[in-house]
Amino acid sequence: MSVRIHDMLKAGGVEPQDARVLLRNVLQTSDAQLAAHPEHELTEDQRRRYLALVQRRRKGEPIAYLTGEREFYSLPFRVTPEVLIPRPETELLVDLAMERAPRGRTCRVLDLATGSGCVAITIAFHCTQAQVTAADVSAAALALTRENAVRNGVALELLESDWFDKLSGRRFDVIVANPPYVAANDRHLAEGDVRFEPRHALVAGRTGYECIETIVARSPRHLGAGGWLMFEHGFDQAQRSRELLVRAGFRDVFSTRDLAGLERASGGRV
Ligand code: GLN
Repeated sequence: MSVRIHDMLKAGGVEPQDARVLLRNVLQTSDAQLAAHPEHELTEDQRRRYLALVQRRRKGEPIAYLTGEREFYSLPFRVTPEVLIPRPETELLVDLAMERAPRGRTCRVLDLATGSGCVAITIAFHCTQAQVTAADVSAAALALTRENAVRNGVALELLESDWFDKLSGRRFDVIVANPPYVAANDRHLAEGDVRFEPRHALVAGRTGYECIETIVARSPRHLGAGGWLMFEHGFDQAQRSRELLVRAGFRDVFSTRDLAGLERASGGRV
């Protein structure tokens, strides 16, 4: 049986793009190398590992969990099924935080439900004056956050905390969160990559607003004067999110659209 790269890429009934990513991962090489050496032969071990990944992909497992990697804001992150896979639309939250972070002095930033740490780490990477605290209720997620912080060469404070439980008396200039915001009966939970993602990172009760309500209600006590709260939400949750913010006493309440034109994040300041 042929074990050349050229033939391996056609094995197994997955999208050509996925086959390339998986083969690149097994061979620890680049697309350019794959293309330049189609006759290169895989070892038996490489062939076995590649075909195992192809089979898992055919059953729907997300590419990011199979390779253990995902880029976010051009930085590399390790991901496992303990955390959500970083999504491009969440880069908006990083932009919002960096636009609104106070300049010219140290800026205290809190990222709630940090997961892989992609938001906290990207802010710390780009904002040298930011002192970033990353909190998550999951110890497994925080272990991954730590690994990703080291990998990207940034220092973070890591805190295992159910929302603000371990943050009493602490105040920040910016609080960001990509919390769970999917309603428990949302049919998207049965489709695509999300089937394999941790439910507790996606689902926020029957309505989808449970976590957003908690964050909005509890943030004011943890923001310094003029401090901003900003969070991601579902494409159809902007109006209700703004109402919650206004009702909790936030000023300058806003929503922002992602690159797909959907209102994807909202916020306000105290
Ligand atoms: N945007 C994600 C999805 O719909 C949900 C992410 C989240 O709950 N924070 O799949």
